[in-house]
Amino acid sequence: MNLRAFTVAALFSLTIALDAQPVPDAAKPPETAGAWVDLLAAASGWKATVTYDTLTGTGHILRGLDLVRFKVGFPLYSAGAGRVLKAPAVRDAGSRLEIPREAVASIASWFSERDAERASRFSIAAILIDPGHGGKDSGAIAEFGSGKDRLRILEKDVVLSIAGDVFSRLQDRWPDKRILITRSGDTFPSLDARVGMANEISLGINEAIIYVSIHANASFNKSASGYEVWYLNPDYRRTVVDSKKSEGVDENVLPILNAMLEEEYTTESVFLARSILGGLKGGLGDIAVNRGLREEEWFVVRNAKMPSVLVEVGFVTNEAEARKLSDTDHLRKLGDGIYNGIVDFVDYFEHRKGLGSP
Ligand SMILES: [Zn+2]
Repeated sequence: MNLRAFTVAALFSLTIALDAQPVPDAAKPPETAGAWVDLLAAASGWKATVTYDTLTGTGHILRGLDLVRFKVGFPLYSAGAGRVLKAPAVRDAGSRLEIPREAVASIASWFSERDAERASRFSIAAILIDPGHGGKDSGAIAEFGSGKDRLRILEKDVVLSIAGDVFSRLQDRWPDKRILITRSGDTFPSLDARVGMANEISLGINEAIIYVSIHANASFNKSASGYEVWYLNPDYRRTVVDSKKSEGVDENVLPILNAMLEEEYTTESVFLARSILGGLKGGLGDIAVNRGLREEEWFVVRNAKMPSVLVEVGFVTNEAEARKLSDTDHLRKLGDGIYNGIVDFVDYFEHRKGLGSP
């Protein structure tokens, strides 16, 4: 189809130039007549533009990403997203297009529906990366070999390096999200301070935060190796509803609300754990053992009122793995894996919770 579209204003100057027949005043309702509105005036009220094709008698009203199509004399408007608005038709009044007030009202309410829908979309507004231990608390420590093969490895250093990498990559990817890290040097924030940092972030109604704690493992079994991701045991009952934020809420409702939120956080924590595990598997391939998902009641995970997981990047007590964990390339791969897992989760979460196409 050869669809030539003009803006209405351009179109009418063209029409008038080609066809100078004056429109009889009687056929033209007064500007303010009750039933009809100038389509361009209605559109400018919506900050929309109008395009109209005289050959087919069709046109559209475009407002941001919302497009409403109309056909002169046809009492249906196609509003996109599978929606058809039934309203009296647009008419061609010669010098301008006119739209019945009833149709103006339907289109206006469709636009506000779309606005409300967009405003209700969920987003991960903040991501808190928590490298475990630090400062006086070295976490797991191991020593191997002697001479130039001597290796002394501290969990706090391994996890800080990986976490810093994940943190800066997330910042680059999402400058609009709040990306935080519990420590950026060799310091020791208390567990309460770490969790507090996460819980104090103020979020909008449809915003969420995720918490990713990064640790390295130790075992008496020197052959144990590999990475794993922990999430909270779903049987553990948490108080996830913040009492300060629920003032005025019927106290009988709180336990129910709490259970609902808890359920949601647990489900999301499992998804987040699974995404990160998938990211690590993709990034490391066969060079490290995938020990899978684990459930536990870690302090930081238990007290974070949000989807949260704890990643164990490997065993410092296994010599071969400890040597990898002191290699910057390997650390970068671990960082890549965690980063990719977080990105997958955020994409999934934001789209699953979205209410359809833009
Ligand atoms: Zn640890």
